[in-house]
Amino acid sequence: MGAVDAFIRSIQDAIRPDDRGSISEWAAKYRILPPDTPEPGPWRNERTPCLVEIMDTLSPASGYTEVWLKKGHQLGGSALGENFIGHAITSAAGNILGVFATIDDANKWNLSRFEPMRTATPALRRAVKDRDVKGSDNTQRRKKFPGGMLQLVGSNRAGGLKSSTIRYVLLEEVDEYPRDVAKQGAVPELARNRTSNFGSKARIFGNSTPTIEGASEIDGQFNRGDQRYYMPPCPACGHRQRLLWENFRWVDSDPTTVGCACVGCGIVSKEHEWKRLFTPDMWVKTAKGQPGVASFHMPSLLAPLGWRSWVDLVVDWLEAQGNPIKLKRFINNELAECWQEQTDRVQWEVLKERAEPYALRAVPRGYYVLTLGVDTQDTWLAAQLVAWGRGERALVLDYFEIHGDLTLDPSNPDSPWFKLDAYRHQAFRNEFGIDLRVSMTAVDTGGLHTHTVYNYCRARRHDSVIAIKGDRPGKPILGRSSRQDVKNGKGDIMKNGVQLWFVGGDTAKSSLFARMDADEEAGRVGADRLLRFSTQLPDIYFKGLTAEVYKVELGRWEKLAGRRNESLDTLVYAYAAACHPTVRIHTARVAEWDELERLLEPRHRDLFGGVPPAAEVAPAAAPVVPVSPAPVTSPVQTSARDEELETVTAGDDGWLSNTDNWLN
Ligand SMILES: [Zn+2]
Repeated sequence: MGAVDAFIRSIQDAIRPDDRGSISEWAAKYRILPPDTPEPGPWRNERTPCLVEIMDTLSPASGYTEVWLKKGHQLGGSALGENFIGHAITSAAGNILGVFATIDDANKWNLSRFEPMRTATPALRRAVKDRDVKGSDNTQRRKKFPGGMLQLVGSNRAGGLKSSTIRYVLLEEVDEYPRDVAKQGAVPELARNRTSNFGSKARIFGNSTPTIEGASEIDGQFNRGDQRYYMPPCPACGHRQRLLWENFRWVDSDPTTVGCACVGCGIVSKEHEWKRLFTPDMWVKTAKGQPGVASFHMPSLLAPLGWRSWVDLVVDWLEAQGNPIKLKRFINNELAECWQEQTDRVQWEVLKERAEPYALRAVPRGYYVLTLGVDTQDTWLAAQLVAWGRGERALVLDYFEIHGDLTLDPSNPDSPWFKLDAYRHQAFRNEFGIDLRVSMTAVDTGGLHTHTVYNYCRARRHDSVIAIKGDRPGKPILGRSSRQDVKNGKGDIMKNGVQLWFVGGDTAKSSLFARMDADEEAGRVGADRLLRFSTQLPDIYFKGLTAEVYKVELGRWEKLAGRRNESLDTLVYAYAAACHPTVRIHTARVAEWDELERLLEPRHRDLFGGVPPAAEVAPAAAPVVPVSPAPVTSPVQTSARDEELETVTAGDDGWLSNTDNWLN
């Protein structure tokens, strides 16, 4: 094609009227899915019948200006957003805004979603030129095409764009947008204002996996709309109904037997029997909704045959039982429903009532890994020692404060840091007379002493100490880490001197309280409990645990006025330490726990002749001032991760061989 032809073509593109064709027709005609997708090759609406009506409601002829999709994972929901953008670029010109949770997400979408679609779709390649072509106006987050421009932004920058008018808005994963009180609904509102000039020709497509009841943006937007549910007919009697997880049945914990029971006739039909009846016209509106606002609910139960199967879902469901984090993930990601957070305020006396009469600092049976969480205040440290067992079972082993001048050098015996080191290095004996050491210590860097903490952690980076910092809501308990510059006592800067880990405090708190709820609901006692406290813990400990409540309207945990919360914070930090890659109690396999049990709770106690069981109850702590390292008697289990049990293996009859590298 010559230059003149190209010029004329671009003029024609810019002035031609909207193509009134629907997005599903556009996809069937033009869209080629790249090789790394579940079904590469030409888009076929027959394979994804549930998506057709959603696309057509976004199409020029629909009469709807907003479409909201509350969706599960791996359903083709992302491809739907791509088709929306692709259709807008090639058929009905206008400015397009794509909003993502972060700028990184925007870049990732461009690389892994938009560019593959563009290069595989000739009509799109004609409209948006290759990036390396001179004058193509195709940059990572800004793409010019005849008749408009596509801009990709992070949600915190969505308001800063000066571009005059926008006709199309894609709001991707809205529940991941950071929010605070005043800003709930801020980005959708902005999108509505920005597109208002286009009246009924504007289109907003927002989608997300829902999160927490009352705080979920997509749930709120879904409820503004006409709330469409997909209702296929029962394969046995033809009765049309929603596929609800509560009607799924399987036999004897065998996922391969899964089917869904009909609410009309009760007959259980298999996945393929239900899904082969799926057609595009099975969506049913269940609410009037605001004018021009359509909303769809799409759980993973509706995934096309051959994608995420019902068998897989049952496997995940069974795995999630008794594990609040996995359960929340299943409810959100697979059922596309909100998780109901425990928001009732727990009284500290109630928590204290569930405490058990075990001794602090003596490790009971069933706990194999110790972690320490440290909170830094202006003039003191608070620390909590937690023991971990199978299934992330946690037992609080100690809580104490160390007061003093935090600016003193850790080598000075008066320094709180010196005392913390002494505490960290002591041994904690279990019922079998084996001594455990602290596997990981996490120290908070917030507050006045950030660089003091950096220096402390930097000097102990090979002694299982990490520096941590709170992350925003919705993040993993221990997530990403980054290198930070460290200023030492002389004012010198060490570039990238310390590795700082980010802690999802809200996630940890939700998990901890959900665990206590699960204990209560299941009526668990003693060693079966997921989270245990000792009656030797001081009242201030229980008061601190209940010093924060989850505020649905803010979507985060908040401290109650005038309350101290160090016991909750240090429990969170000890949890984060347990999730460190070298400890990772949350992903340890059964075989690894078995090995730990074999090492730390040997059944042939005779082998350890002369070692007294640590049966005596330790003195109560209120609050405890750490002592010098306790004299260590062999055999010693040092940092279960790094070193072999040399003192045990010597002279035994070989039953304990092959113990090294158990975690590798
Ligand atoms: Zn039926």
